[in-house]
Amino acid sequence: MTELTHAIASTHQVFNQPPPLENYNAFHGDRMLQYWLRVFGAKWAEPRLMEFGHQVGHELLQAGFQANKHIPEFLPHDRFGHRIDQVDYHPAYHQLMQAAITAGHTHLPWTMQEPGTHVARAALAYLHNHADPGSGCPLTMTFASVPAIQTQPDVASCWLPGILSGHYDGSNKPWYEKVGLTIGMAMTEKQGGSDVRANTTVAVPVGQPGAGQLYSLLGHKWFCSAPMCDGFLMLAKVEDQLSCFLVPRWREDGSKNPIHIQRLKNKLGNRSNASAEIELRGAHGWLVGEQGRGVATIIQMVALTRYDCMIGSSALMAQAAKEAIWHTAGRSAFGRPLHLQPLMLNVLADLALEAEASLAISMRIAHALDNMQDAQQAALVRCATGIGKYWVCKRAVLQTFEAMECVGGVGYVDENVCNRLYREAPVNSIWEGSGNVQCLDLLRVLSRESDCLNALIAELEAARGRHPLYDRRLEQTLAMLVQTESLEYAARHILQHLALCWQAATLLLHGEGWIAEAFVRARLGQSSLQFGCLPEGINTQAIVERLLVRIDNRTAG
Ligand SMILES: Cc1cc2nc3c(=O)[nH]c(=O)nc-3n(C[C@H](O)[C@H](O)[C@H](O)COP(=O)(O)OP(=O)(O)OC[C@H]3O[C@@H](n4cnc5c(N)ncnc54)[C@H](O)[C@@H]3O)c2cc1C
Repeated sequence: MTELTHAIASTHQVFNQPPPLENYNAFHGDRMLQYWLRVFGAKWAEPRLMEFGHQVGHELLQAGFQANKHIPEFLPHDRFGHRIDQVDYHPAYHQLMQAAITAGHTHLPWTMQEPGTHVARAALAYLHNHADPGSGCPLTMTFASVPAIQTQPDVASCWLPGILSGHYDGSNKPWYEKVGLTIGMAMTEKQGGSDVRANTTVAVPVGQPGAGQLYSLLGHKWFCSAPMCDGFLMLAKVEDQLSCFLVPRWREDGSKNPIHIQRLKNKLGNRSNASAEIELRGAHGWLVGEQGRGVATIIQMVALTRYDCMIGSSALMAQAAKEAIWHTAGRSAFGRPLHLQPLMLNVLADLALEAEASLAISMRIAHALDNMQDAQQAALVRCATGIGKYWVCKRAVLQTFEAMECVGGVGYVDENVCNRLYREAPVNSIWEGSGNVQCLDLLRVLSRESDCLNALIAELEAARGRHPLYDRRLEQTLAMLVQTESLEYAARHILQHLALCWQAATLLLHGEGWIAEAFVRARLGQSSLQFGCLPEGINTQAIVERLLVRIDNRTAG
């Protein structure tokens, strides 16, 4: 090629584009996570998290992209026409499941005696979410199913060894031939998801009736995620009484349990996870807990999946903020580094503050779960999880959008993880009790369970005197709780106040002082919740630096 043709062929050099944030240790690079892990007593888990964080920042990050590109495929029949109801996943999905289960995502608090196991497991779940939130769905459900299944000791003795084994087995065979088991959940029906009393699926005993006995289920479920799980906790009515069942994918005799998958949903996000519509045509399942106690039984699982929505959305926000900071730190605009320009600093620091406040209250719940023998901590879990689920999941939708905008046009394209974080965010708010349902549940709990109200007030009161803006807001918020008229109408307003007070209290009591000061001024000292409107005098640069991922030779590889 002559010099001239070479010059014509090469149109430009690519410059002023940062390298992708990859090949790093996702734990070592996250000072915020390290901080909250230590504050709530799980420093001992650092070696485990260093190892998992390395996988997340390297091969699992890539696996996440693969699993979201090559989405699950539904195969209703085999080539001879037999029904198989099979969903095939890309190998990357299995890799993600395997790594997370081996690290302890589904079982750590149930199998390890160390104090702080919930906090350590929350950190694992948070890190896994960085690689792929979609596979987090069956991981969460498996983890959360344990207390509900324990309600029925004879069923638990058969299933828990596999659920808690720390092994993943993605093969399509009966549960009793596997070492490692995963669990799903199917409550939602077409005519009502929030109102499960409207369920029409019925169950009749196969032989003897009663807890632990086998029943036959007839009906449908409008959403059943991760349909290749080995078993599913489901609600069905026995003589018009809503009851909970563990329904395996295979029957005891080795035949396929008739759980017919109708189709998989095409979804906005959460692509690596399959979400099915199913029909139960005489599917067998064991009654878990007493007949008519279905909601009371399955709510033990739902309480934990709601908590995991908090962790998941905190992780989405942390990753979004880190991506925004990483990108802008590697880019100049109008002749100056983008992440150091005042207006961008204002936005980036605000995104980081939101992520930190969300992680703080998620870890606070993990800490309370680690101390359930203390009645006040148990009561706090019962009421504060709903507040966190409502607020953190809603804020994630806005926060991930703002982070994507910081990255600019390249943030919007499919190859960029920011795009996936934004598409993923709404689902945590919708499933496991949508926003209004969280509000109504909280009002119900606070009005009926005085220990919950007392635990929540004690948690907020503990931070009184730490900041005048906090004290003022706390007074306003507590006053709202005693105005019993129009509580339902005002429920979102009340929850927002409670959430902001609780985030501020957690930061004031347990956080870094300068972060707490910034959050209180930003969220309690002004009315705007728009990102990038921080008041003057906040050390935005230090807040941004805290979330700037450092890749050093020890952690890259
Ligand atoms: C990707 C995905 C996967 C899912 N996977 C599963 C799964 O594996 N298993 C499963 O069981 N379900 C699953 N779901 C279903 C999900 O849990 C439900 O969609 C959710 O509970 C809401 O139920 P619904 O869709 O019937 O909406 P509805 O119950 O009709 O609610 C619609 C809206 O009305 C609000 N609302 C309800 N009652 C009131 C009231 N009294 N006052 C004011 N507002 C109210 C709700 O907050 C909601 O915003 C999944 C959903 C999605 C999107």
